[in-house]
Formats: sequence, C-alpha cells, structure tokens
Amino acid sequence: MTDHAHTNCEELLFSLSAYIDGELNPELCQELEKHLVGCDNCRVVLNTTKRTIDLVHAPIEKLDVPEDVRERLFKRLNLDDYLNHQP
Ligand SMILES: [Zn+2]
Repeated sequence: MTDHAHTNCEELLFSLSAYIDGELNPELCQELEKHLVGCDNCRVVLNTTKRTIDLVHAPIEKLDVPEDVRERLFKRLNLDDYLNHQP
C-alpha cells in the first residue's frame, strides 16, 4: 500500500509559523493536524510556539519580559525565520 505524503516532525516544524499565522494552505493544515494528533512532541512545540508568539505580540510594558529573554526564547525555538518575516 502507498503511504501518501505523511507529515513528519521536520516538515511540521518547518510550516509551524505559517500554520499558526493561518497562512498555510488547507491541505497542509489538515496534514499537520493529523500529525499533531499522534505526536506529543509536536503538540508541545506547537503550544510553546503559540505561547511565545502571544508574548511577542503582546505589549512589552505589560509583560515585563526583557528583550534578550525573548530573543533567547526565539533562538531556542528556532523561530529566527519567523522573526525575519515580521514587517
Ligand atoms: Zn511530530
């Protein structure tokens, strides 16, 4: 039988920021969601990433999170690409 284009962790992480932004096409979204159901690891990454993005979008004064802490968090999550896509 043919195992058609199964999403793996790497692919998922690659498209994660687009997915969170709602910029991913519906087919890929479905693939990611299917993968997430069976993969604890990626669910954790997704949740962490979402929370990080919330932090980034929230006003800094309210958060009291120093810039360098956010930067380190992003580096750890490999979100440099995401940052670079910001206007
Ligand atoms: Zn995974």
